[in-house]
Amino acid sequence: MELSDNLMYTAMQRLVLLHYQKVLYVDLTEDFYSVLKVSDNEWNLKVGGVHSYKISEWFSFFADSDLCHDNDRDLFRSFANIENLRAMFRKNGEKPVRCRYQRKSKPSDSMYQQCVMEFFPYTDKNSHLVVFLFVHETYDSDDIINQPTFEQLEENLQFINHAPEKVKRKILVIDDNPINRSILVEYLGEEYDIVEAENGLIGLDVLFYNYRDISAVILDLYMPVIDGFEFLRRVQANPIIAVIPILVATSADGDDDEEKCLALGAADFITKPYNASVVRMRISRIIKMKEYAAMYSVSEYDSLSGMYTKEAFCHHIDMLLGTAPDKKYDILVYSIGNIHSIEKFYGIEVSHKVISCAAESIKSSEPQALFYGRISESLFAAFFAHSSVFDDSYFKKQAARISEGSPAENLQVKFGLYKNVDITLSGFDIIGKAVSALESISGQYAVNVACYDEKIIEKQMKDDAMEKAFESAIEKEDFEVWYQPKYSAKTKKIIGAEGLIRWRGKDGKLIPPGEFIPLFERDGLISELDEYVFRKVCRYQKKRQDAGQLVIPISVNLSRASMFRRNFARNYISIASGIGIDPSLVPIEITETMALKSISLKSFADALIKEGFSLHMDDFGAGYSSLASLQILRFDVIKLDKSLVDFIGTSSGENLIRHTVAFARESGMSVVAEGVETEKQLAFLRDIGCDTIQGFYFSPPVPQSEFEKLLESQSVS
Ligand code: C2E
Ligand code: CA
Ligand code: CA
Repeated sequence: MELSDNLMYTAMQRLVLLHYQKVLYVDLTEDFYSVLKVSDNEWNLKVGGVHSYKISEWFSFFADSDLCHDNDRDLFRSFANIENLRAMFRKNGEKPVRCRYQRKSKPSDSMYQQCVMEFFPYTDKNSHLVVFLFVHETYDSDDIINQPTFEQLEENLQFINHAPEKVKRKILVIDDNPINRSILVEYLGEEYDIVEAENGLIGLDVLFYNYRDISAVILDLYMPVIDGFEFLRRVQANPIIAVIPILVATSADGDDDEEKCLALGAADFITKPYNASVVRMRISRIIKMKEYAAMYSVSEYDSLSGMYTKEAFCHHIDMLLGTAPDKKYDILVYSIGNIHSIEKFYGIEVSHKVISCAAESIKSSEPQALFYGRISESLFAAFFAHSSVFDDSYFKKQAARISEGSPAENLQVKFGLYKNVDITLSGFDIIGKAVSALESISGQYAVNVACYDEKIIEKQMKDDAMEKAFESAIEKEDFEVWYQPKYSAKTKKIIGAEGLIRWRGKDGKLIPPGEFIPLFERDGLISELDEYVFRKVCRYQKKRQDAGQLVIPISVNLSRASMFRRNFARNYISIASGIGIDPSLVPIEITETMALKSISLKSFADALIKEGFSLHMDDFGAGYSSLASLQILRFDVIKLDKSLVDFIGTSSGENLIRHTVAFARESGMSVVAEGVETEKQLAFLRDIGCDTIQGFYFSPPVPQSEFEKLLESQSVS
């Protein structure tokens, strides 16, 4: 059987591409399986033939192999007895089953991956019990958390099983020929409500506004106004309606129509002249598939907040602006900036509670918005009829409400407002403008509200100006390197430093890195800047060395973009050797997320280490941290982020820091704590064995001349 001949294929692709790395087709009646999706990009869509194996043998092999975690062996042994599996699905009435387990991908791995395996059972046309087996394997436990849970699956299934029985499903028939339409009404009218449209444009309109009610579309290809192909194209461009399955009516002489339509997202075909039972069967299968698929594809409501998903929110803006374009509207976006820290310290349940409580506060506050959406993890949006309520006191009240209702303290709530939106824009772009206002104040502690207005446009212009000035600033050496000393926790002496960039503007004022680094990271100029700093620091070290002065390691920062530069490692190595400096004197700081997300970095890192560079993991604990990243790249030093250090004083925070430091030391890494501002933080860190302290408690970053004074005063004392 060739799956691409089958409607399963398109539906499956939608199901699978989203979440799963591996997909197996398993025939439990015959005891064989075929691997359909091998890895993220590899598909093998043949069932049977040379690629089929006994599933029972595989389970039993796996259960006893080094790959399987001890805790999970019994589970897989029980699966290996295939009668157990059959019985389970018979008992469950063909409901999906999910299990979690841990495995290694090769015996030599030291870590286990977190895995989810889902069985989707159905009985095929030969009365064989078949399951699709979806497998998700990851080193990132956050990733697993984002997988739909079995409970959600159950819920969705109940919804499917209960709702439709009484209500007739609606089918949209788009065909310019009234005779064709009436034939379909005759064949399908008893079981379904048929909505008719005489061309693609009308059909699109019907679908756009009634997407919730329409279960499937039967589409003629050749029609006036817009034809079937264009219809498919436009549907595919809108994620909210793209989930509705489309059955394309083809005629015998339309050679490559089917192929074209498949590429455009069609789910299946029926050929004219219609055969009543074929039409009925296809439409029923396609609807069933859609309702399974709906569990995984774009859904309209976000389960945690009860708000629209981003796609649905955009769609509702588009619908509204399409039906009531004569009115004025405002959009407000809300973010909870520190949700990641909350998750880390209080756990995922609490962070979910924070999100759902914030959503409740937002939804229940006055004035009511027209509708609400959850745009991303901790970003909400509300679409309002234009009003004048958005003043300072409004935002103060909102922030207070959201914080008061929250199970965690110190929420960092920020707002981005875009008033009187440009109604010629799409929902997507309107959100984008409000978000860009919000982004303009990210990282600014004291500012919590930003409007999309001249200021944002001004910022845009400022960014443009900085980009233009970049090259000449490099040439004229307007970029300065400042030094922040690192102190021994025990002796309180300077044992290292970090080189941090500053930009001396035309007016002689300093521009802090927060204003230009994110910009240069976006446009790629950062790698040039990183190299500039690296050269400066190397030369400075060389100068001190030649003058017989004290030389301590001075680290430099490296952005993601720099790492991805071709020949990056070789380039840095040759710069250091050209200047004549030992690479160990200029350690390289890279952020944890960078290391984790790019296993391919391993070869760069290995090359650097081989040449004697020292790698420091920066900002440890700032993002989604996990010790897993430490296993991927070999770091010499980890730097605890300021956000972690700030938790000193809370017992969960202190525990985490204690464990992290212990783990690092056991693994032969030393620990630098960053952002240390108080005596108390210093004392705690020193007592748990943290080696090095960097922070305002000792010294902020200072210009070279002052740094030299600090070093001198030390060698005198
Ligand atoms: P980072 O690498 O995490 O650098 C530490 C930042 O924390 C510095 O900010 C430093 O001034 C600040 N800091 C240190 N101790 C304390 C403290 O006790 N309290 C507080 N509140 N802050 C403290 P800075 O210099 O503004 O740099 C910000 C970020 O800009 C750096 O964060 C780094 O990510 C980036 N950056 C700076 N120079 C470069 C560079 O040459 N290349 C790249 N790619 N990034 C750079
Ligand atoms: Ca750093
Ligand atoms: Ca840092």
